[in-house]
Amino acid sequence: MCCRKNLLVLVSTCFLAFIPACAGWFAHEGRNAGECSDEADNDGDGLFDCDDPDCTGSAACDEVDTAEPAGTDNLPIAAGIQMDAIYLYQGIEVHWMQDGALVEDAPVSMVGGRDMLIRVFVSPIGGWVSRTLVLRVQLVQNGHEVDSFRTSASVTGTSWPEELESSMNITIPGDALNVGTAMRVELLEESEAASFGGDEGRVVFPAEEPQSLGLNTPGPTLSVVLVPIRYEADGSGRLPDTSDAAIERYRRHLYARFPVATVELTVGDEFVWDQSVSASGAGWSTLLSAVGEQRALLGAGDNTYIYGLFEPAESLNTFCSGGCVPGLANLVSSAYDVWSRAAIGLAWDEVAPDVMSHQLGHNHGLSNVDAGCGSGGGASDYPHAGGHIGERGYDFVEQELLEPDTHFDFMSYCSPAWVSDYTFERLLDRAVDVDEL
Ligand SMILES: [Zn+2]
Repeated sequence: MCCRKNLLVLVSTCFLAFIPACAGWFAHEGRNAGECSDEADNDGDGLFDCDDPDCTGSAACDEVDTAEPAGTDNLPIAAGIQMDAIYLYQGIEVHWMQDGALVEDAPVSMVGGRDMLIRVFVSPIGGWVSRTLVLRVQLVQNGHEVDSFRTSASVTGTSWPEELESSMNITIPGDALNVGTAMRVELLEESEAASFGGDEGRVVFPAEEPQSLGLNTPGPTLSVVLVPIRYEADGSGRLPDTSDAAIERYRRHLYARFPVATVELTVGDEFVWDQSVSASGAGWSTLLSAVGEQRALLGAGDNTYIYGLFEPAESLNTFCSGGCVPGLANLVSSAYDVWSRAAIGLAWDEVAPDVMSHQLGHNHGLSNVDAGCGSGGGASDYPHAGGHIGERGYDFVEQELLEPDTHFDFMSYCSPAWVSDYTFERLLDRAVDVDEL
């Protein structure tokens, strides 16, 4: 027990104050973000995710429009329509073009190697007839086209920021987005023979040279070793779910929220624990220390986070009936403090992904954000009132927008939770430093 390198490590606890807040999470298949794609039967009716009628209408259950390579065809530019704005999303809304002008200020950095949703806002002008149009995105590197993507969509009228389906949308895969990549966007007719007439509007942007997407940061990797803790304190030997499906669910949850190009999750060796860990907080810090000390045995690199998963009772309902601590993490103030990069959390489906992202946030040096849900707040410079996220979010996994006035930062205890611009930018700074170790 020699190896706590930093005696000043702060430990950050989270407490689920009321089981009713948790109970809501059991009762619906698709009430909270992620539940229609979590491969869990959240409401216990035997139907999973999109097979459950409760998920009808969820974005996760819609057919996915994926970007396809543009052909060599020479489609005419669209008439009777114009592009009003172009927004980019790698988790948080960034305005790239507004009313024909490039927007200089972005709330967050753009991340190389990370998927990006592009939304093109249109409005009809003279002579418009509703029809299908083609959105073509050209990517340029050092003056040369390196990729192009296109999608088709039925256009019926003006686009609105709050309505995802009202804009023309295309997701560009991260591997096409590098530091320095520039873009041009075009709205085209669906066929070479199209002749709808209509006024000529702004349907190519920029009209001249492609312009930078602001990708100045190579995308870091978030690397986590998940340690399955065999809980022996009650004689059960209970293990968490570390099936491929469970791991993929964690990966997607973290990827949607953390500003990284890649999330690498591996499952470490089982770790046996025979000391009691209670809902009120007893035993947590001892277990956290012990899990952190597995770093060398796990062969984890300096840039890797250690995350212990466990189930200290038969069910979350049992454990958390009077409120509970769901996770514990070292608050790691320096990217170079390798030995503190560890956290533990409850592994039950209902809470595990959210607990994991919150605890890994602490491991990235982030304090709790006070949103009035009992967390208190260490982040005294948090800029948004009430712990709200500040900017509109977009969830790649659920394919849904998250409005800033109804969502809270995931470093608060409030739900529904998403990542704020504040948290996104700080996570990125830390992830870049850690990735370089
Ligand atoms: Zn916390």
